[in-house]
Amino acid sequence: MPNMSLEKVKMPEQAPDIRNKNFKEVATGYTAEMAIEEAGRCLNCKHKPCVNGCPVNVRIPEFIAEVAKGDFLAAYKVITTTNALPAVCGRVCPQESQCESKCVRGLKGEPVAIGRLERFVADWYMENGKDEIVKPESNGKKVAIVGSGPSGLACAGDLAKLGYDVSIFEAFHTAGGVLVYGIPEFRLPKTIVQKEIDKLSAMGVKVMTNMVIGKVLSVDELIDDMGFDAVFIGSGAGLPSFMGIEGEALVGVYSANEYLTRINLMKAYIENYDTPIKNSKAVAVVGGGNVAMDAARCAKRLGAEVYIVYRRSEEEMPARLEEIHHAKEEGIQFKLLTNPVKIVNDGTGKVCGIECLEMELGEPDASGRRRPVAKEGSNFVIDVDTVVMSIGTSPNPLIRSTTKGLETNKKGCLIVNEDTMQTTREGIYAGGDAVTGAATVILAMGAGKKAAESIHEYLKNK
Ligand SMILES: Cc1cc2nc3c(=O)[nH]c(=O)nc-3n(C[C@H](O)[C@H](O)[C@H](O)COP(=O)(O)OP(=O)(O)OC[C@H]3O[C@@H](n4cnc5c(N)ncnc54)[C@H](O)[C@@H]3O)c2cc1C
Repeated sequence: MPNMSLEKVKMPEQAPDIRNKNFKEVATGYTAEMAIEEAGRCLNCKHKPCVNGCPVNVRIPEFIAEVAKGDFLAAYKVITTTNALPAVCGRVCPQESQCESKCVRGLKGEPVAIGRLERFVADWYMENGKDEIVKPESNGKKVAIVGSGPSGLACAGDLAKLGYDVSIFEAFHTAGGVLVYGIPEFRLPKTIVQKEIDKLSAMGVKVMTNMVIGKVLSVDELIDDMGFDAVFIGSGAGLPSFMGIEGEALVGVYSANEYLTRINLMKAYIENYDTPIKNSKAVAVVGGGNVAMDAARCAKRLGAEVYIVYRRSEEEMPARLEEIHHAKEEGIQFKLLTNPVKIVNDGTGKVCGIECLEMELGEPDASGRRRPVAKEGSNFVIDVDTVVMSIGTSPNPLIRSTTKGLETNKKGCLIVNEDTMQTTREGIYAGGDAVTGAATVILAMGAGKKAAESIHEYLKNK
C-alpha cells in the first residue's frame, strides 16, 4: 500500500536564526528511514509523467522503487545511467517546475519529493559506495573543452568514457564553473563538486586552470597548433549587466557574479580569510532572481543588514519560491516595487546609499509580467555601504571575437545546430549558458552530453 500522506516528509534544516550566521548547508538531508517513507508516496504510475519533466529523463519511479526497498545502491545505479551529477542536481535543480510539477501526487497535496530523494541517494553513495573508475583505452583523438561548468564537465565525462584524450581549459584557478564560483556553500558544498572533478581526473581528463581561452591561447591555436580534433565551448554567461545609473563606478558596487566569486572562490565564507568584501554594514541587492537571493543570503551571513531591491511585486519575482522563503526567514528585508535611480557618493568615492523611486504595476509587458511604472516624486534613499547588481548576465564576447567563423545571435549567444550542438564552424561545438543565456545546471549538462555524442559521431570516422 503506498503512503497516502498529502505532504512530503519534511526535510530537516538548520533554524533560520542559526543558519543566517554560518555557511553550512541549510538543508541537512533525509535519513534512510525518511527516504524510505517518502519513497512510499510514489504511485509508480503507468505513464510516468515525471520522467518527461526531467531534462535528462532520469528513470524516476524506478529509482524511487529501489529506495522504497532500501536498496540505495540499485537506486544510485538507475539515476547515474542518465545523470552524472545527482548530488548536485538533487540540491539545485528547480524540481518544482520540472519533474515534481508533473507528479500525479501533486494534483491533490504535495508531489513526491523527487529532488530530496535524489540527493539522499547520491549522498548515501558518497558515504557508502565505491567508485570503480575504469580508465578507458585511448582512441588516439584529442578534444579540448573550454570551461569547467556543468556543460563542460558532462561533455568531458562522456568523451573520456569513449576513450578520447580530453583536456579542460578553465579561466579561473578552480574548476567547477558556477557550481563553485556562484552557488554558495550553504546550498551546494564545494566538496561535492570537487569529488566529481576528481572522478574525471581519475579517468584521465586533464584540467588546466588559469587558462583564459581567447587570451592565453585561442580556439584556433588549440586546433591548428595543439592538434585538438574537436573543441567544445562551455564558457557560460558570466558577463554581468548594469543599470547604467549614476554611481555604478563607486567603491562598494559589485556585480552579483563578482560579489559571489569573492565569497566563494576567494573564500570570504571562511572566518579568518581576509577577503576584501567582509565589512559591509548594510547591503542592497538589486534584482529578484535566484542569483540575487544567493547574494543577499551571503551578505546576511557576513553580518550585514540586507535589502532586496526589486522593481516589481513578489508575484513577478523570478526566484524560486523556496529561495524567497529561505531569504525572508533569514531576515532579509524585501523592498518591493522599488527601483534604484542613483547610487549615492559619500564624497570620497564610496557608496553611502541607494536612491530609489516607488513603483506601481501597469499593463503587462512583452514578458507577460505587469510593467512597473514610477510614482513621480516618490524618491527616497536606503542607507547602505554596498550595492550588488543582480539584474542578469550574458555570454562574454571574448571567445567569439577571437575565433574565426563563430556566429552569435543578438544576445551574444553562440548559434548552434540544436540537433548536434555544432556551432557555425565544423568541429567546434558549444552548449550550456554560452548558447542559451543564463539557464539551469541540468540543461547545461544535457547540452554537454548531447555535444559529446555528436563529437563522437564526427570524430569516429575521421
Ligand atoms: C549565483 C547563481 C546561482 C544559480 N543557482 C542555480 C540553481 O540553484 N539551480 C540551477 O539549476 N541553476 C542555477 N544557476 C544557473 C546555473 O548555474 C548555470 O545555468 C550553469 O552553471 C551553466 O553551466 P555552463 O557549463 O554553461 O557554464 P558555467 O557554469 O558558467 O561555467 C562556465 C565556465 O567557463 C569558464 N570560462 C568562461 N570563459 C572562459 C574562457 N574564455 N576560457 C576558459 N574558461 C572560460 C568560466 O570561468 C566557468 O568556470 C545559478 C547561477 C548563478 C550565477
